[in-house]
Amino acid sequence: MGSINFINCFILFALLFIARSLELLRNLANKQGEKLMIVITDPNYWDCDCDNNYIHKKSVTLSCPVCKMTEDECSDSRPNEIKLFYKDYKEKN
Ligand SMILES: [Zn+2]
Repeated sequence: MGSINFINCFILFALLFIARSLELLRNLANKQGEKLMIVITDPNYWDCDCDNNYIHKKSVTLSCPVCKMTEDECSDSRPNEIKLFYKDYKEKN
């Protein structure tokens, strides 16, 4: 009967190992997904809460006179949106 117990133990460990591997793979897949979700922003510009003209240049203004939001409460702007407001804006690489 000893050999049957050994085989049972081996199968149990094998299953645990497979389950652990699958978990690691899933975590890895999630991390890859997060990387794709990262949005590139320009730290020189910020978005306020307005529906229009919500992109501000930090060197010009740090608070919006319309919605009263300030730069530190808001996120940085995305280069593709900055380009729509500032025609001469150049995306840095
Ligand atoms: Zn605003």
